[in-house]
Amino acid sequence: MTIKVAEQKTIEQLYQSHPLLKSITATKALTWFNPKLQPFAEVAQSLPLGSEEITDAADRLRRFAPYIAKVFPETAASNGIIESPLIFIPLMQQSLQKLYNHPMHGRLLLKCDSHLPISGSIKARGGVYEVLKHAESVAIESGFLTLEDNYQKIDSASFKTLFSRHSIVVGSTGNLGLSIGIMGAQLGFQVTVHMSADARQWKKDLLRSKGVKVVEHQNDYSKAVEEGRLEAQQKPRCHFIDDENSQDLFLGYSVAAERLKQQLDDQGIHVNEEHPLFVYLPCGVGGGPGGVAFGLKQIFGDNVHCFFAEPTHSPAMLVGMYTGLHDSVSVQDFGIDNKTCADGLAVGRPSAFVGHVMEPLLSGIYTVEDENLYRLLALMHDSEGIDLEPSALAGVPGISKVITEGKAYLERYGLTDKLDQAVHIVWATGGNMVPSEEHLRYYQKGKNLL
Ligand SMILES: *Cc1c(COP(=O)(O)O)cnc(C)c1O
Repeated sequence: MTIKVAEQKTIEQLYQSHPLLKSITATKALTWFNPKLQPFAEVAQSLPLGSEEITDAADRLRRFAPYIAKVFPETAASNGIIESPLIFIPLMQQSLQKLYNHPMHGRLLLKCDSHLPISGSIKARGGVYEVLKHAESVAIESGFLTLEDNYQKIDSASFKTLFSRHSIVVGSTGNLGLSIGIMGAQLGFQVTVHMSADARQWKKDLLRSKGVKVVEHQNDYSKAVEEGRLEAQQKPRCHFIDDENSQDLFLGYSVAAERLKQQLDDQGIHVNEEHPLFVYLPCGVGGGPGGVAFGLKQIFGDNVHCFFAEPTHSPAMLVGMYTGLHDSVSVQDFGIDNKTCADGLAVGRPSAFVGHVMEPLLSGIYTVEDENLYRLLALMHDSEGIDLEPSALAGVPGISKVITEGKAYLERYGLTDKLDQAVHIVWATGGNMVPSEEHLRYYQKGKNLL
């Protein structure tokens, strides 16, 4: 086990060389624009993954679609493709204008991954994908399946018996465990989920009701992942889903991009130099937002501007990318407590894999206070009638951040006079499975703060 704690001396030097760390450590809400952002054409060739790998992942999801449609009837309408709506939220845009007291140029949309089938969060992309990919390779290696088969045959006793001899282990703050557990148990795998202290009780209860083994930890996410990794190393025929490093998770998320392009086309929205696209993605360890942003850059290149959003108390990716030290530093190294109501984002140490890949692609990262998340949650309910979990609101302030703090960025990329033609997409990453009593508690907290 490697614990990567930057030495105290290094930390002090970092404060000198990276002045923004002072505000980050003081848990102030702030915006960082990435100085290492490059023109896409100049970096495309040197990226470790590309459109070929994304297409391969999309093809795999299509092969599984008949099976998914059969075992999760809520996906039958989309023929077993796990996808979420993209909707305009003009009433929320008006409410934001009032709340922040400045004009909100452009059009605001919500990508409702909160309402993805199977697990009601963005993890129904990456998490489900990696479980399916593993199931496919086990079944093919065992001679049960070929790529040409109709995958509906997987829904059978013989496949369940095959998969029951294999196990899957994952560490999670909740939603990844939920996705892996639901999908893995449906296939027949033995699944163990190591849950961090942040994980909500209802998520653990739901998983246990499906026969998933839930191990509870008193520590944060990094420790839960570490424990999961250790368990997996000791077990035969065990697949560890490595949220901190997995390319499969990343590719599962990235498939969202080509589907989003189709949804934009269907609504007559064309992204180009005159009509830039801004996308705001809540970020935990980085795989979900990184995968989606990576896919979007492949399609829209320099015309898409991707921002990550983190809680002020869990700015792991911000600290990692800003210092360039990635997973060699954690927020705890700077005395930040990693305590937030945004349980999906309660991560203290970022994925180095994602940080490196996104270095030339990401436009920036901003942080949001918990109180603001609650406020926006209530506002989203009142204006649009949409219930989200706190993490999923982190994308909402993005439009305001770009308009009020992005002057230099907008000028550098020739966007200043294009804001009225811009499209802003808030990626709503979770919420649909939250029990209604819990929603009500969140809502009341937010309402009291408005
Ligand atoms: C997991 C999660 C995220 C962030 O994804 P990462 O891969 O951890 O960065 C955002 N929102 C919700 C609701 C999540 O569950």
